[in-house]
Amino acid sequence: MGESVANNEHERLESLSKYDILDTPADPAFDDLASLAAQLCNVPVSLISFLDRDREWIKSEVGTSVREIPRDHAFAKRAVYSNDFVVVSDPGADEELRDNPLVKDEPHARFFAGWPLINPQGVAVGALYVVDDHMHHLTDQQTQILRVLGHEAVMLLELRRELHESRERNARLIAELDEMRLKLQDQSTEHVRVEIALKQRERQLSDAQRIAHLGSWEWDLRTNSVTWSDELFRIYGVKPNQFEATYEAYLRYVHPEDRVKTNHAVERALVARGSFNTEERIVRADGTVRVLLTCGEVIRNEKGEPARMVGCCYDITERKQIENELHHSLSLLNGTIEATADGILVVDMDQKIVQFNRKFAELWHFPKQFASIYEEGRLVNIASDQLKDPVGFRQKVASIYKSPECDSFDVLEFKDGRTFERYSCPQYLGGKPVGRVWSFRDVTERERAVQVMRLSEERYRSLVLASAQIVWSTDAAGQVMEDSPSWRAFTGQTVAEMKGRGWLSIVHPRDRARIAEMWEHATRTGSAYQVEFRIRRADSEWRYVTTRGVPVREKDGKIREWVGYCVDITDIKNANDVILKERDFSNALISSLPGIFYVLDETGLNMRWNENLEKVSGYSSLEISKMRGPDFVADDEKQLLSERIHKVFDTGEADVELQLLTKSGERVPFYCTGRLVHLDGRASLVGVGIDVSELKRAEAENKRLNAELEHRVQERTVQLNEATKEMATFTYTASHDLRSPIRAIVGFARAIREDAAHLLDEESRLYLDRIIHASDRMMQLIDDLLKYCRVGQQAVHLRAVSIQKLIEEIFQEFEPRLKSVGGEVSMASDLPRVLGDSTLLHQIFDNLIENAITYRKQQEPLRIDVNWRKGVDDVVIFVSDNGIGIAPHHHQRIFEVFQRLHGLDDFPGTGIGLATVKRSVEKLGGEVWVESELGKGSVFCVRLKAVDNGGSNGS
Ligand code: ADP
Repeated sequence: MGESVANNEHERLESLSKYDILDTPADPAFDDLASLAAQLCNVPVSLISFLDRDREWIKSEVGTSVREIPRDHAFAKRAVYSNDFVVVSDPGADEELRDNPLVKDEPHARFFAGWPLINPQGVAVGALYVVDDHMHHLTDQQTQILRVLGHEAVMLLELRRELHESRERNARLIAELDEMRLKLQDQSTEHVRVEIALKQRERQLSDAQRIAHLGSWEWDLRTNSVTWSDELFRIYGVKPNQFEATYEAYLRYVHPEDRVKTNHAVERALVARGSFNTEERIVRADGTVRVLLTCGEVIRNEKGEPARMVGCCYDITERKQIENELHHSLSLLNGTIEATADGILVVDMDQKIVQFNRKFAELWHFPKQFASIYEEGRLVNIASDQLKDPVGFRQKVASIYKSPECDSFDVLEFKDGRTFERYSCPQYLGGKPVGRVWSFRDVTERERAVQVMRLSEERYRSLVLASAQIVWSTDAAGQVMEDSPSWRAFTGQTVAEMKGRGWLSIVHPRDRARIAEMWEHATRTGSAYQVEFRIRRADSEWRYVTTRGVPVREKDGKIREWVGYCVDITDIKNANDVILKERDFSNALISSLPGIFYVLDETGLNMRWNENLEKVSGYSSLEISKMRGPDFVADDEKQLLSERIHKVFDTGEADVELQLLTKSGERVPFYCTGRLVHLDGRASLVGVGIDVSELKRAEAENKRLNAELEHRVQERTVQLNEATKEMATFTYTASHDLRSPIRAIVGFARAIREDAAHLLDEESRLYLDRIIHASDRMMQLIDDLLKYCRVGQQAVHLRAVSIQKLIEEIFQEFEPRLKSVGGEVSMASDLPRVLGDSTLLHQIFDNLIENAITYRKQQEPLRIDVNWRKGVDDVVIFVSDNGIGIAPHHHQRIFEVFQRLHGLDDFPGTGIGLATVKRSVEKLGGEVWVESELGKGSVFCVRLKAVDNGGSNGS
């Protein structure tokens, strides 16, 4: 590239020389551009330089005093030859730049970046570049700003060239004019031609000036007359005839604040420098202010004395304005960034820090120089370590950087208790994201305040809910305009929701139309109102409220607003409902009672009653209301009823059976109760009465029937006794009468058996034996039956009988039989005496001992024992054996007549013995039972009357 550029070098140097810029004094316009570049790129050093044949000549510089750099080491050379934006990140390592004085000495540059200054003809003449003493990075935005500033420098250069050229042209023209004027003096013939030529030149000059917005002037120092070009008059907004055409007249147009400075520059040019260059404000004839770039140069006469001064003015008002605006907005931006309470960090697409404000460092507790200390990545780590959720934060940041165009917001919680709101949005340049702005706001206090407010709101809500009082107001038209905290607290509506007629939306759908209409009516007519309806409470429960609203009027009677309150009456209403239901229930209960119901006060007056009382008594409701309890009975019972009523009030309860006296004089038997209760704080008697007519009738009938029955039973008993007697007599007579013929049969049969047996064959003998046997049995049966009958018939003579003696006698009687069967008997030695009949007693124990012998076990020697036990006024005698025993289900049956448990082949008997025992024992006023199990022997128990101490001691 060096070669190709070198080919143009001649042309380039020629172009540069046209600007006549080299070695010119400092120019504030260039200086401004250089300092803007340094400021916007955030670097300590910036330069505007031009590349000369053997050197880089520096026109403006910020942050360095270097004025020239050998061409071989010039950074400008790099920019000029590249014809494009150039960045050198480590110039110390660059062969050419290593010896650049900016690198070698202060500021020991580590970073170069800049644009070539390319003129409208496309020739690069110099460079605008920034230098940093450490590694630096320019954002796209900064690069672009640098480019614009470079362009501006070229524009200045062009302007300068134009000025220079026009100045030269002017000087030439003026010289020519002078010459012509001289010639004119000498050659009058030439006058007209010259005049024409002059005019033509002047016109050309004027045109040129108009086109370039460049005014020129000339000041004849000798005559103090000032000549302005047409364009200059236009710039000053002055007509030629209005201008006095002196230096002082010119000065008057200069803005008072710039006048001294301008005058000073002119004077200095006159005395020393020969030229001047100022920027000044002028006040035009119409009062508007313009900014001019004015330059002038002293023209000396042949003697070298200042004769004239020529110059030109360039109107730079618009450019200045743009510059100012740029300055303004930049400083505004910086000021804003610094002034905001948020911490702001701007990074480029490579996540490099472009800018941040003090607040940012402060919020994150970063040192002020953190941007140069923390490398990228470490910053996020150090920041996240302060957070409760460092991992979450790091992940979030990473994900945000992955999508350059996303906006993102979240809340950060710090370990030290602080809370930040974090916002991040992309930064665009020309519609493309070029970086990202992060802002952080410390909302710890705000969050705390919100928390406190929430608490107090909750408290307020509880208070309102507890007091159930809501206060509200509306405008004259009935529109809710203002907040009602109590309404909000009760209903949970927001201010926005309740506004206007919004409150209607939480009125119960069934009530809404009615309430809206009523509210319409009230606001239309201006009349206060009170109404009951349901609204939805904050917890979604429907609540009954009663609302009262009243208009508040101005002095002239016009309604100013409405105020009112709501009271939650749900609980009261519910309680009322319960009471009403309770009353309905008790009314229904009272009227459905089958009898009469009454409530009396302490004087006995009827307070309340049911319809039955009216029906039964025949009195009207009005009559009853004036009657007392005793008025419902006849005279003979009045006293009794009064007493019972008093008893209720004294003791709490009483009852009475009486005859209710109806209005028609009829008496109806009633059973009435009374109980003391307190109704409405008054002692009262509550009671019911039941019509007992039916009961009475049934009772009488019952009595009558019982009497009748008794009578019949007695009659029947007599009949039965007679029949039994007859039966017994018959049985006895029949048995007795049967004895003789049977005895005869037995006698004759035995006679035949003994005397004529030989006459009979074997079969006849067998028959005869059977006749004898059957007859014996018949005799036995008849004897037993007679015994049984006798027990029923015979009179009983009660006296003391010794059981000891009796049993001894019986054992003696059975001795032969006992011997034959080989039995063993025993008896208690102190068997008692009883009150009884000795015949019956003998029969009883004779039977029992005989059975004990009969029903013995074949394989076991018989044992019989007689013992006893004393009762209160009786004794029980036990006759025990070790015989075959009796199954429990037969224990009753064996005491009935003819009941036997065995066939005759097994054990002989008639089945009458135990029946006789039972009959005898009962005749003596005792009882008999058996305790036995099959195969385990039996105990027959006989309870008999004991002999009291005074009893006789008979045998
Ligand atoms: P019987 O003349 O048959 O003995 P009872 O009236 O004396 O008539 O007895 C009725 C029945 O009771 C007997 O047939 C017998 O089966 C039973 N019985 C009576 N005493 C005893 C006893 N001591 N042991 C077992 N069975 C008995």
